Amino acid sequence: MLTGKVILLENHEAQSSISRLESGYVGIVKGIHLSAILDLFSNFLRQRISIFRDGKIEGKYVLYWMKHAVRAHENPALDVALKISENLSLPLLVYQQISEEEPYASERRFAFEIEGARDVQQELQQRSIDYLFWIQRRNASRLLDSLAKEAAIVVAEDMPVPSEREAKQRLRDNSEVPIWLVDTACIVPMQVAGKAYDRAFVYRQQTAKERAARLEAAYDEIDYHPSPMPKLKLPEEQIALDHLGLTALLSSLDIDHEVKAVGDTTGGSNAGYQRWRSFVKKQLPRYDKDRNDPLLSPSSRMSAYLRLGHVSPFLIAREAASFKSAAADKFLDELLVWRELAYTFCRFTKQLESSEAIPTWAIQSLRDHESDRRPQIYSYDELFFAQTNDRLWNAAQLSLLNRGELHNNVRMTWGKAFLQWTKDSEDALAKMISLNHRLALDGNDPSSYGGLLWCLGQFDRPFPPEKPIFGLVRDRPAAVHAKRLDVEKYLLLIGS
Ligand SMILES: Cc1cc2nc3c(=O)[nH]c(=O)nc-3n(C[C@H](O)[C@H](O)[C@H](O)COP(=O)(O)OP(=O)(O)OC[C@H]3O[C@@H](n4cnc5c(N)ncnc54)[C@H](O)[C@@H]3O)c2cc1C
Repeated sequence: MLTGKVILLENHEAQSSISRLESGYVGIVKGIHLSAILDLFSNFLRQRISIFRDGKIEGKYVLYWMKHAVRAHENPALDVALKISENLSLPLLVYQQISEEEPYASERRFAFEIEGARDVQQELQQRSIDYLFWIQRRNASRLLDSLAKEAAIVVAEDMPVPSEREAKQRLRDNSEVPIWLVDTACIVPMQVAGKAYDRAFVYRQQTAKERAARLEAAYDEIDYHPSPMPKLKLPEEQIALDHLGLTALLSSLDIDHEVKAVGDTTGGSNAGYQRWRSFVKKQLPRYDKDRNDPLLSPSSRMSAYLRLGHVSPFLIAREAASFKSAAADKFLDELLVWRELAYTFCRFTKQLESSEAIPTWAIQSLRDHESDRRPQIYSYDELFFAQTNDRLWNAAQLSLLNRGELHNNVRMTWGKAFLQWTKDSEDALAKMISLNHRLALDGNDPSSYGGLLWCLGQFDRPFPPEKPIFGLVRDRPAAVHAKRLDVEKYLLLIGS
C-alpha cells in the first residue's frame, strides 16, 4: 500500500485512469511523468535511482532488465521495479539475457551467467515473479528492444563500465521507454558519494559517516506479488534453463571459444554463498595477517559473484561487520573502500579506457618516458598464452587463463609489467583491459578499471625518483616479487 506524500493529479482529464487511489493517500494518473512518483520510494531506494530517461506513464508492464544484480533477495533494482509495479498496478517481468554480441562473450562468462540464471529463476519462482531468460543471437532482432516498446518503464542496474553504458544508450536510442538505473552494488550509493575521488584515504574519510549509517542496517525487502504477465509472443522458443545441456549449448554459440568454462568456480547464488560461508569460517579470522600471501590463500574469491550480484554486497558487508575484529575491518576496507572507490570513480569519469582517466602528473610523467627503450615488446598472443621470459608473470597469466582469477597481490605485479612490454601507456592499457576482461570471471567490473588504472598511477601519488619507462609512477618489478613468492608452489596451487 502507498503511504506518505500525496502526488498532485496534474492531468484532470485523466483522473478516471487513476491506477490506485487509497483514501487519504496517493493518487497517480496515467500520463504524468514517472519521475513524479520518486517521492514514494524509501530514502534507501531513492538515493539509488538515477533517471536515465523520464517519460509518461504508459505501457503494459514494468520491465526489469536484470544483469548485474542476479538475485531475488536484497536487490534494490528488483525492489524499485516491484514498487512501481505495485503503484501502477502493472505486471512485472524480470528479463535476463546473454548476448552473443556483447564484448567478452565467451564460454567462461556464459557458463557462469547461465549457472547464475538457474538460481535466480528458482528464487523468483518462489516469489511468484515472472522471469524470462533469453539468448540473444548475433544479427537477430533484439528481444530487449521489442519488450521495451510495450513496457511502461525499464529498470536496470547502474553499472558504470563502458560496455554497459553503451548497452543502456543503445536501448535508449532504440526505444522511447522511460529508463531508470538503480545502484545495486554499493553500500554508500555512488550518487551519495557524488564525485570521483582520486585517493582511497580521502574517499574513506569523506564517506565514513554515510558508510557507518548504512553498514549494519537490516535490508528492508519489498514483499509484493505482482499480477502475472500476459503471454508474450517470442520470436523463437525460450530456453528451458533446468534442462539445458551446458556444454553442447556453449559450443553452438557464436562466442569466444578460446576462453573455456572453469571447473572450480560455479556461478550462482548457491555457490556464491557456499564460498562465502567457507571463507567466513576458515579464512576471514586471519584475513588481515595473511591476505597478501597467495600461498596461504586467505582471500574470499567473491569478486566474480559480486560482479554479477549473485551475492548481496549488503549481506556480505553486514555479516563481516558483525565480527567486529581487525581482520573483518580489513576485509571491509577492501569491500567498501577500494571497491566502492572504484565504482564511484567509474560512475563519474567519462573516458575509462584511455590514459586520460589517470591523474595529470601520471600522464605527464609516462609521456616524458614514452621514448625510453623497453626491454622487450610482446605480442598480444605471447602475453595471452603466458609466453614471456618472466616465470612469475607467466604463472599469474596462467592463473587467469586456466582458472579465470588472480590473487590481488600477484595481480598488481601482473598489471605493472605491461608498461615495460608494450609501446606506450595506451597500448599497455588496451592489452591489460583485453586480457583481464576476457579471462577473469570478475573482469569488466568497475574494480577492474580501478585496478588496471592503478597500474598507471590512478589512486596513487608520485613516487620519486623518476625511473625509466615508469617515470614517477610506482613500479613493481616481478623479479623482486619472485624473491618473496615461491613460484613453483604457486604454480602447483593454481594447478598449472
Ligand atoms: C591489475 C588489477 C586488475 C584488477 N582487476 C579486477 C577485476 O577485473 N575485477 C575485480 O573485481 N577486481 C579487480 N582487481 C581488484 C582485486 O585484485 C580483486 O578485487 C581481488 O583480487 C578479488 O579477489 P577476492 O574476491 O578474493 O578479494 P578479497 O581480498 O576477498 O576482497 C573482497 C572483495 O573486495 C573487493 N576488492 C578487493 N580488493 C580490491 C581492490 N584492490 N580494488 C577494488 N575492489 C577490491 C572485491 O570485490 C573483492 O571480492 C584488480 C586489481 C589489479 C591490481
